[in-house]
Amino acid sequence: MTAGARLDEPLSRALGQARGKNPLSKLGLETVGDLIGHYPRRYDDPGRLTDISMLRAGEHVTVMARVVQATVRSMRNRRGALLEAVITDGRHRLSLTFFGKHRGSLYAHEQRLVPGSTGLFTGTVGLYRGERQLTHPAFMMMGEEDLDSDEDLLAAAARPIPIYPAVAAVPSWRIAKAVRTVLDTLTGDDVPDPVPVEVRAREGLPERLDALRKVHRPDTMADVRSGQHRLRFEEAFVLQAALAKRRALATGRPATPRPPATQAAGSLLAALDARLPFELTAGQQEVGAEIAGELSTGRPMQRLLQGEVGSGKTVVALRAMLQVVDAGGQAALLAPTEVLAAQHARTLRALLGPLAEGGMLGGAENATRIELLTGSLGAKAKKAALLAAASGAAGIVVGTHALLSENVRFADLGLVVVDEQHRFGVEQRDRLRDKASAAPHLLVMTATPIPRTVAMTVFGDLATSALTQVPAGRAGVSTHVVPAGNERWMDRTWARVREEIDRGGRAYVVCPRINPDDDGGGEDGMETVPASAAEPGDAAAGAVVPDPGEQGAGTPLRAVLEVVEELRGREQLAGVEIGVLHGQMAPPDKDDAMARFASGESPVLVSTTVVEVGVDVPEATVMVILDADRFGLSQLHQLRGRVGRGAAPGLCLLVSEAPPGSTAGLRLEAMVRTTDGFELANTDLELRNEGDVLGAAQSGRSSSLRLLRVVKDAKLIEQARTEAIGIVTADPELHYAPELADAIADQLDAEQEEFLERA
Ligand code: ADP
Ligand code: MG
Repeated sequence: MTAGARLDEPLSRALGQARGKNPLSKLGLETVGDLIGHYPRRYDDPGRLTDISMLRAGEHVTVMARVVQATVRSMRNRRGALLEAVITDGRHRLSLTFFGKHRGSLYAHEQRLVPGSTGLFTGTVGLYRGERQLTHPAFMMMGEEDLDSDEDLLAAAARPIPIYPAVAAVPSWRIAKAVRTVLDTLTGDDVPDPVPVEVRAREGLPERLDALRKVHRPDTMADVRSGQHRLRFEEAFVLQAALAKRRALATGRPATPRPPATQAAGSLLAALDARLPFELTAGQQEVGAEIAGELSTGRPMQRLLQGEVGSGKTVVALRAMLQVVDAGGQAALLAPTEVLAAQHARTLRALLGPLAEGGMLGGAENATRIELLTGSLGAKAKKAALLAAASGAAGIVVGTHALLSENVRFADLGLVVVDEQHRFGVEQRDRLRDKASAAPHLLVMTATPIPRTVAMTVFGDLATSALTQVPAGRAGVSTHVVPAGNERWMDRTWARVREEIDRGGRAYVVCPRINPDDDGGGEDGMETVPASAAEPGDAAAGAVVPDPGEQGAGTPLRAVLEVVEELRGREQLAGVEIGVLHGQMAPPDKDDAMARFASGESPVLVSTTVVEVGVDVPEATVMVILDADRFGLSQLHQLRGRVGRGAAPGLCLLVSEAPPGSTAGLRLEAMVRTTDGFELANTDLELRNEGDVLGAAQSGRSSSLRLLRVVKDAKLIEQARTEAIGIVTADPELHYAPELADAIADQLDAEQEEFLERA
């Protein structure tokens, strides 16, 4: 048998089940490998009973408790019998109920439920006359395990009891028993270890099978910790090695060097610098120099630029693009939405002026052209844009995911800039890269502040720079929570909006939904990106966060089309033009709405989150967010970033009914407390569970990360990264670490599968 083949063995066979049945398939466990990768959720201390007061109705639970009494009686009004038992944790009680056809059918249960003895009980917590109870729980009494000797019995009595994620049909102890059966027959050779022996030695880690035994069959809690630590390290290590390989592969391909022009004469970059209406910040200059250096080499740049909202990433990108155009190449700028792509094209044209009017009357002599390519372009305009890209007439092509489609060709694509990375998956980056003959340089920009460890985990294949400073002369934003139910506060809110408008400002009013008649959720604000291209956790990263139980029951979410009508009727806003923007509008109407808002013709814009990312109207001073509790923190931060961009101070009003202290309430409090994106990102991590975080920030890797916690395990991730880079640098093809190579390949397969499923 080849190494690892045992792990592929079907469970039906491994567990010796009759007729090839596998009872564990209800949990999605098909092979030996699946089963030993199904880790316990927690461990019960055999000396300590479960706190019954913590159980909530509706939960599927496994409880360790002591039997107080068990009695069988006939039913009063119906035929049949009833076994009623009471169990306790020493303080609280929980009743168990079993129904039977007649008394005799319940005696076997009664015999096992000996008062004073301890057992594990599992079932769904129900309510009967206001009391919590378990109906027909599956249970196992201590001492019922089939143990061979007294020694086993003694050891078992002191061992932590693994509690597995289970379902009613397959209780935790059935899983434990299956795991035991399987683990007993495995040898070290059956369980390939992706962590090479020298790394294990350096880091003091047990080998894989040993770690699995410690996690599934611990003698002590110290075993559990040691086993979990080793398995977490492995997750981080395999991921970091995969990223290191990826990076080595990407930077290993030759790229065309695009050094800065040596003479100012004829250089578009020099001409742009001369006409910029502001001084570059120190950060912009620093990052700019770093990028300029990397573009000059024969290795493709792989860089992530993180910058707070409003920190001026666009101009950094434009300068990089112009360096490439000066050197004879082309640049593509990829944006997540049509609104944003159109705005980028407008911004770049405005910044460049005559420098972008190549081939036109009045254009500068060395001028280039900027083409906009989006999915909704008319056939004729599209053809012209495609031609300009393919002929090289367009130095810069700005677009949405339409840029990824097959018929888009470039004459000489030298640089790919991806704005607002969190909307694009790794595969999409690759697709654009594949459009160049030599590897193009890559600059990824994100305003979503990413804690360092998440960045390492998700973007570990990119080097990172950050713009921490916001250009001088920004007055900042103050933030307040407005209770939605309070008429006086709401009147005051719209009166404030009026004051700002009378002073020449603009106001955004953001709602979670478009149409009051739809009961569906909100708009995703990504109308140009097919749903399949969105990250799976997008709802958490951005769009509306379903938070059942926290929203007042029956309070419908505010909708754009309804709010616009309300505002038009408000006396505070009498005489003010109110515009509308949402993803279901036709693209020309969207452009029109944005233009009228920017010019001040309709200074109030009621919209969905389409304005979330990157929209830049310096006169905007107020951001009113309705049902603010329904949005994620990073999204609120992005939305708030739309105001206070000019010289006038910004105001952000979060309208919500979230009770203080609820998760949603805490999110809003964090918004009031700080405007620091990194602090908000950390708060966000604390308020969410890890699965959400990784699901939101990355595409598909969640499946391979089971125990790793991106925040708590920061140190471990750093160590694993250092070790992984060391191994990959010394042996890029991983000839000497075949198990690691296999683990990476498995992970890529899983990722690709997930991607294909979503596509
Ligand atoms: P973001 O990093 O959020 O994409 P933008 O690139 O849209 O930010 O820049 C926000 C605004 O700041 C734009 O109006 C831009 O013209 C302006 N800006 C950029 N750099 C500077 C600077 N050095 N000084 C003053 N304003 C700047
Ligand atoms: Mg931007």
